[in-house]
Amino acid sequence: MSDLRKAALLGAFYGRRQKSLLVVEDEPAVREMVADNFRMSGYAVEEASSVGEAWELISRAMPNLVLLDWMLPDSSGMEFLRRLRREEPTRALPVIMLTARGEEADRIRGLNVGADDYLGKPFSLRELEARVKAVLRRAGVADFEPVVRAGGLEIDLERHRVMANSVETQLGPTEFRLLHFLMSHPERVFSRTQLLDNAWGHDVYIEERTVDVHVRRLRRRLEPSGTDEHIQTVRGVGYKFSVAMPPQDAR
Ligand code: CA
Repeated sequence: MSDLRKAALLGAFYGRRQKSLLVVEDEPAVREMVADNFRMSGYAVEEASSVGEAWELISRAMPNLVLLDWMLPDSSGMEFLRRLRREEPTRALPVIMLTARGEEADRIRGLNVGADDYLGKPFSLRELEARVKAVLRRAGVADFEPVVRAGGLEIDLERHRVMANSVETQLGPTEFRLLHFLMSHPERVFSRTQLLDNAWGHDVYIEERTVDVHVRRLRRRLEPSGTDEHIQTVRGVGYKFSVAMPPQDAR
C-alpha cells in the first residue's frame, strides 16, 4: 500500500487530517527535496524560505512539527527557535534543526535552546524521516499503521478484519476502532476521556462509562482466543493494550 493511500485510509478511519510539517529552509533545492519526500510519505507539508514566512504560516495553521534550517536570510533558525519556545502556543511545538554547521558546540546550543533533535547536512532522507517519526511519537502525535499485530492479534483497517490467534473475529465498529487505537499504542494507559476523543472521534458526546461497556464487549469477543487478557484495566486511570501478563487483581 502506498503511503499516500495509507494516510487517506487512516484519515477516513479516524476523521483526522494528515500529519503536517513545516519546512523552513532558504535553499530551494533542499527545501523542495525534503518537502516532496514527506509529501510522498503522506504528510501535509508547508514550505517557508524565511523566518517571516514561517511565522505567517504557523499563525495560520499549527503544524505537528517544524524542520528548521540554521542559517536563514532574515533571522537565524536559532532566534526563531527561541521565539517559538517563548510563546505559549508554540512552546511545545516539536522542532528538528537542520544545519550545515555540524560542530558539536552548535548541536549543543540548538538542543539547549529547545530543539527536539538535530541533523547535520548532508543528511539522508531516510534518517530524517525516521527522526521525524521518533519526535512525533515522543510528542504524542500518533503514528498509525493500517495493519497492527501484537500478542496473537492482527487488526487490518483496509480489510476491516481482526484475526485472533489466526481465527477471524467479528467486532462492532466501535470495538474495532477501540482495539486498533489501543494496539497502535501498546503499553500506554489511556483515560476514558482520551479513548472517547481518539476512538470515537470528536463531536461525540458520550458518557465515560460507555467506554467500559465497549471494553467489556471487546473482551467478550476476544475471550474465545484468549487474547482478551491484552486489554487491561489500570485501576483509577483507564485501559491499556499490553502483551505482558497483567497482575491478577487488574483484570
Ligand atoms: Ca540556509
